Amino acid sequence: KKYGSPAPTIFSKIIDKTIPADIIYEDNKCLAFRDISPQAPVHFLVIPRTPIPRISEAHDEDAPLLGHLLVVAKNLAEKEGLSDGYRLVINDGKHGAQSVYHLHLHVLGGRQMQWPPG
Ligand code: 5GP
Repeated sequence: KKYGSPAPTIFSKIIDKTIPADIIYEDNKCLAFRDISPQAPVHFLVIPRTPIPRISEAHDEDAPLLGHLLVVAKNLAEKEGLSDGYRLVINDGKHGAQSVYHLHLHVLGGRQMQWPPG
């Protein structure tokens, strides 16, 4: 199963544990850790171990993995006490303002979010 742009990112090093991160959850398919530059009182990322560069490069067969990321995100949001709600975000490519090309789901909470985003 191939992806278009397989260049390793900093997130591969977090998965390898060659650079530190505040990891709050891991299993055989994914990992969650706190964002280094939090945009809310709670801000963590859920990433697949498989280095899918971006959501637009995911394959139909990745559906179970993508679903798993969502379920892990909501379970962790509950654990983090986000009972008043939270925001899930996936940035894709240039217009999506993606900066790290290893698929990640942002979970943001602990304050009021606005809609629409900027
Ligand atoms: P993107 O804009 O690609 O959706 O978001 C990438 C996110 O990764 C940003 O919120 C950024 O703060 C976070 N990030 C980038 N490098 C690191 C890192 O080395 N460690 C952690 N914990 N977060 C990072």
